Amino acid sequence: MTVKRKAVPVWRRWLLEPAVLPLARVFVVLVCLALLATDAWLIWKARGVQLREAQVETSNLASALARQAADTLKKADTVLLDLVERLQVDGTAEPQLQRLNGLMRQHVYEQAELHGLFAYDRDGNWLVTSFGAIPPGANNADREYFIFHREHPDDHDPHVGPPIRSRTTNEWVIPLSRRLEDAQGNFAGVALATLSIGYFQQFYGTFDIRDHGTISLALNDGTVLVRNPFLESTIGSNISNGRIFKSLLPQRPVGSAMHASILDGVERLFSYRQIQGYPLVVIAGLAKEDILADWHADTARQLMVLGVLVSLIWLLGFYLIRLIKRGQTAEVELRATRDALRSFNLRLEKQALEDELTHLANRRRLMRALEDEIARAARYQRPLALVLFDVDYFKQYNDIYGHSAGDECLRAVAKAIRGGQKRPADLAARYGGEEFCLLLPETDAQGALQVAEQVRATVEAQAIVHAGCPWLRVSLSAGVHVLLPQPGDRPQQLVQPADQALYAAKAAGRDRVLLYDESVAQPIG
Ligand code: GH3
Ligand code: MG
Ligand code: MG
Repeated sequence: MTVKRKAVPVWRRWLLEPAVLPLARVFVVLVCLALLATDAWLIWKARGVQLREAQVETSNLASALARQAADTLKKADTVLLDLVERLQVDGTAEPQLQRLNGLMRQHVYEQAELHGLFAYDRDGNWLVTSFGAIPPGANNADREYFIFHREHPDDHDPHVGPPIRSRTTNEWVIPLSRRLEDAQGNFAGVALATLSIGYFQQFYGTFDIRDHGTISLALNDGTVLVRNPFLESTIGSNISNGRIFKSLLPQRPVGSAMHASILDGVERLFSYRQIQGYPLVVIAGLAKEDILADWHADTARQLMVLGVLVSLIWLLGFYLIRLIKRGQTAEVELRATRDALRSFNLRLEKQALEDELTHLANRRRLMRALEDEIARAARYQRPLALVLFDVDYFKQYNDIYGHSAGDECLRAVAKAIRGGQKRPADLAARYGGEEFCLLLPETDAQGALQVAEQVRATVEAQAIVHAGCPWLRVSLSAGVHVLLPQPGDRPQQLVQPADQALYAAKAAGRDRVLLYDESVAQPIG
């Protein structure tokens, strides 16, 4: 019965290929790496976006702050100009100063950014102030702005000086001053407006600069005027060694850069802007830590999800690879079992048709071959020859030398008979006991006799000692018969005449080959 094998699908055959395992491993690793790389790229991109957004934010902030500072100074300067004009035109007599005092008070009252207004004579003595009463002996000739105007006769611009503590209120103020001159253009004193640092501080406090951001207002020479968050020690400190004042500002009046603050060492993204018309710079900075806080949190979440995903892919991938490996091992074992079964079957088949002692074809195989060859010879009308051999005096051989020596002798004889197979279709067989035969298709009597004689001579040449034989060596007798078979002929029609010829050879003295002779033949059957 033939079992119909189910066709193996292409994908299954592909899975059983040995190259699949390393390929699958590489695939899983590559998928994981690709995921990690893509995510790393996205995370890095998100970081860039955060930093860019922060840069826009700080730039806008610096722009708004510069505008506010310019407006504030402009307003104060306008008041100052008016003051200068009045002092220079109206003079500094008591009634004028009285009127001026009233005007000053009103300005300071109306303008929150104005801390105070002052005028000093050429020696630094106080002429008038928005605070009303002049402290006895008060003199400001030592102040930076006073010295500046006295020393700079050609400078008629407003001057912004380093922050000072007001001698009237002890508050931190920014001095904005102008030079006073007499009719001849000589130095006649200074008009001063002090701007409240507290005002700026309050204004800067309205901006959200997160936990570690800063807003600063500084002079062009790097002197800090205002800083939010407020830190007393920073007022009046010099940051001209910082990156902005050292390398950026000299090149561009507006810009941004990430660097560590020289005041507190915190890394910030700073945007600065030069204030038009005044020697001032505003700087807005957001701490890198604050800018990237959300990004850090997002990244941690993303990495967690990615970790789980990659782990799952890894586990699943390698689980599948293990399954494939198991399948492949099972397939290999299956193949080995199948091959073993096949070779076992072949051996069985061979054993079923082969003689165990001599490894020639056994009688069963001979009978099959006889039937096939008779039918073939009948079909093509070709001669078919059979030679029957029998070892002479073999019983005596066994008796003298023992059964196993007899077996050995039979093997030697079988070797000689095997030598009688000349063509692929020839068949040497053990007929039984010490009888052998050669089936020779397409062979006539002459050819068969020749082959038989050659076998006999080979055994003679082997010269196996046999004390029980008259010629003291093992010999063979052979009977030959050649048939031109007819359809329906039976093996006996070939075997029996050969046997008769063998019998005749024995009778004639053994150790010889005889052809079946029909004239002396006995009837078959
Ligand atoms: P003849 O010359 O007339 O052929 O006499 P013979 O002794 O050879 O013939 P006989 O038929 O009397 O004896 C055959 C002997 O062969 C008998 C048996 O013990 C021996 N024999 C048969 N098969 C085997 C075998 O496989 N091994 C061995 N050792 N002996 C066998
Ligand atoms: Mg015999
Ligand atoms: Mg014999």
